[in-house]
Parts: sequence; C-alpha cells; structure tokens
Amino acid sequence: MEKIVALCKRRGFIFQSSEIYGGLASTYDYGHYGVLLKSNVKGEWWRAVVQERDDMVALDAAILMHPRTWEASGHVQSFTDPLVQCMGECKKRWRADHISTEGGYARCPECGGGLSEAREFNLMFETFMGPVREDAARIFLRPETAQGIFVNFKNVLQFARRKPPFGIAQVGKAFRNEITPGNFIFRTREFEQMEIEFFVPPADAPEWHQRWMDDRMRWYTDLGIRPDHLQLRAHGEDELSHYSAGTSDIEYLYPIGWSELEGIANRGTFDLSAHTDASGTRLEWVDGGSGERYIPAVVEPAAGVNRSMLAFLCDAYHEEVVAERERTVLRLHPQIAPVKVAVLPLIPRDSGMAERARALHAELRRVMVAEHDDGGQIGRRYRRQDEIGTPWALTVDEQTLEDDTVTIRDRDSLAQERIPISGAREHLLDRLGAPWSPPARDA
Ligand code: ATP
Repeated sequence: MEKIVALCKRRGFIFQSSEIYGGLASTYDYGHYGVLLKSNVKGEWWRAVVQERDDMVALDAAILMHPRTWEASGHVQSFTDPLVQCMGECKKRWRADHISTEGGYARCPECGGGLSEAREFNLMFETFMGPVREDAARIFLRPETAQGIFVNFKNVLQFARRKPPFGIAQVGKAFRNEITPGNFIFRTREFEQMEIEFFVPPADAPEWHQRWMDDRMRWYTDLGIRPDHLQLRAHGEDELSHYSAGTSDIEYLYPIGWSELEGIANRGTFDLSAHTDASGTRLEWVDGGSGERYIPAVVEPAAGVNRSMLAFLCDAYHEEVVAERERTVLRLHPQIAPVKVAVLPLIPRDSGMAERARALHAELRRVMVAEHDDGGQIGRRYRRQDEIGTPWALTVDEQTLEDDTVTIRDRDSLAQERIPISGAREHLLDRLGAPWSPPARDA
C-alpha cells in the first residue's frame, strides 16, 4: 500500500488534505490525474448501469435532507458501530467488531491495554441549518445516497414513466464519522458512493439480487480487475444491517487483505414502507389497468467510488525490469486511464517535429484526454507516462517529416509500430473501444 500512496503523491493523483496545516486525519484531496481517474470510474459506472440498460434512470438528490428521513430510515436509531476505548496507556478508541479476540479476550491493538465496555456510537455527522443552533434546526450530512432515491420514488415513477422492475442510479458524496478511518482512501469520513436502488415485485427480489451480483462482478473484471482478486461473500445473520433480507459483499484482495468493495443487499420492502408510514405519502406501484398495487422490494448494489479507484490502482500497479531498467507501470484499462495518449516530439527544439506534434496533439485532444510532453529525454518521458498509466504514446521523429508516419508505443507490450499520422485518431479510437484485458503476468 505504501508504494501506491507514494505513486499517488509523486504523480499528483491524491494528496493529504490541508497538508500545510499538518493535514486532517484520513482526509484526501484529488489532483489532476486523480480527478480524471475518478471521473472515468464514475463514467464507466454510468455507462454500464444507465446508458447501456433500458430499465434504469439517473438521479442527483441533495446531500442535506429533511431530518425525519433519517428517523424513518432507522439511521438515527441504528446506524451505529460499537465503540470501545483503551483503558491502558494510549486511551485510543476502536471499533469493537474490528478487534481480534484471539486468546479469548480483546486488548488494545496499540498498547495491549484493557478495553472499556462497548457502547453504540452513531456515525452520522450533525450540523445545524440556519443561524440558530437548536434541536429543531439539527440536520445530518447523509451517510449514504440511498435515502435520496427512496424519498423521490414517487417523482421518478411519475416523470420517468417506469414500472417495476426498474432502478434509479445515483453518484454522490456521503459522510460517516468513522471511529477508525484509515488505509489511505479505503475508509475515510467523506467519500463518494455509486448506488443503485432497483425496485422489483417482492417475489422476484432473490432472482434480481443474484442477477445484480453477477452483473456487478462482471463490471470489475471487464475493467481489468483480476478475477482471482475478487470474491463474493454472503453476510452472516449477525452482520446483516437493520433493513437487510440478505447481503453479499464483493470483496477485493487489497494489500490489507480481503475487504469490502461493494455491498449488494436485498432490502425487501423496508425502505418504501418506512417512508410511507412516516411521511403519509404512499410509495407504491399502482397498475393503471388492473388496479393492482404493491410496495416494491429493493435490491441495492452500493459501491464506493474511492474504494473502486483504490482497487483499480492496486490491480494495475506493477514494477518490472525492462532492458535492464526498472519501471513502474499502471496497467489501467484504457477506458479508465486518466490520459489516453501522449504525443512526444523526439527532438523538441526541431521546429518541424515540434510543429507536427503540436498539431497532432490539438487534433487528438478534441476526442480524448491527450498530453503533449516535450520535456527531457524520451525514455524519461515514456516512464512518466507509464507511471500514470497512459496506454499509448505517439512519437514524432525524423521519419515523420519524410513520410507522415508516427511511432505508436504500447504501454503493456512495449511494442512499437508505425502508423500514418492521418489515421492516428481513428486508430486510437478503435483501440479505445476494443475489449481489453491485462497482460498475463506473475501472481
Ligand atoms: P464497511 O463494513 O467497510 O464499514 P459498509 O458495509 O458500512 O462498509 P455500505 O454501507 O454497504 O458499507 O456502503 C456501500 C459502499 O460504500 C461500501 O461498499 C464502500 O465501497 C463504500 N464505503 C462505505 N463506507 C466508506 C468509507 N468510510 N470510506 C470509503 N468508502 C466507503
């Protein structure tokens, strides 16, 4: 993990937040390549779950919601983690369910001291709306995007003219006052979710639950994650959230071990029933023809943007020796790579090459993220692009001036071939649209 953190800092993907003030614990800012990578991950998610389906629509609900939302949803009462405090030297606070009880009893992981009794700690951040800090003005930062979807169920039914089975997709920030955040961007207090609430006739929920598990596993492998780095794990009875009739996690083999990447829950009719009872608005499906009415069940695939990004980075990170030189390469799927192509004039000061490279870059950047780099030795420039995961580099050299061709270098195979400059754009667009899988390599 340290190597990933170092690369992310070195290349400007991710920085510690508020660094000049000593940093704010487990809070991160995303730099240029981080923003591009994150936005590509979200873009691929939107493409797979909305653009390429007939049964999904998009939503963007506000982060701030009526406080009664969180009473009805059960979060005020039950969105808690068990908190214990070290009674020994360090007095640190821990999540009781994350502490090993090897040997029969739990001890502080930091100093080995005894631990207090567990008490339930609510993870929602509170704030106040308006100028008066009183209970009536107390609101929460949403701890999940899901509730914004449930409270809009009626709006979507009406305006998107949908009937179950159909789903609503949303991407947005969520906030949880985690007791022990950490492991870089794996667990932070502010993060982004990509959530789907898929509404189905209750009898069909188990079937749709299975379908979504298959679909979502495929999404990760289609984008290049090694299948042996992914697993589905069904929650035990004692782990199930207050709303869940069955949850399975997609886990990824992070450097910290197998950990949750996405949760796929069968939430039953819990949410729509709870909001119907609390608000008095009937959140149900009514068939205009037969008059049949029912409250749909919900299947929820809930993924983390930041955790997905970390999984893509971990899977792509590779160190190898090529021509007796070490290189670090991010073998990201071309669709999610921050930069698709780099245009490199071999001799920057040669006006012919510089001019051709500039013109090619200007043409390419209109259809994909392209970089122009004329600084330093060509080998250095290649390695820089390898480190940020750019799948292709086009080199403009002497031959370009003679026959209007450029060299295209492949990040993974390092193969170089010559292509006509006039066909470079089409060539790259074809390769971007083609299926991709990571090259075979050692475990
Ligand atoms: P965990 O058990 O790791 O605390 P969770 O089961 O509470 O996670 P969900 O409520 O299912 O998580 O949230 C859906 C997804 O949101 C998770 O699979 C994860 O990718 C992401 N997520 C949840 N909490 C965090 C966090 N603190 N930081 C980053 N991502 C998070």
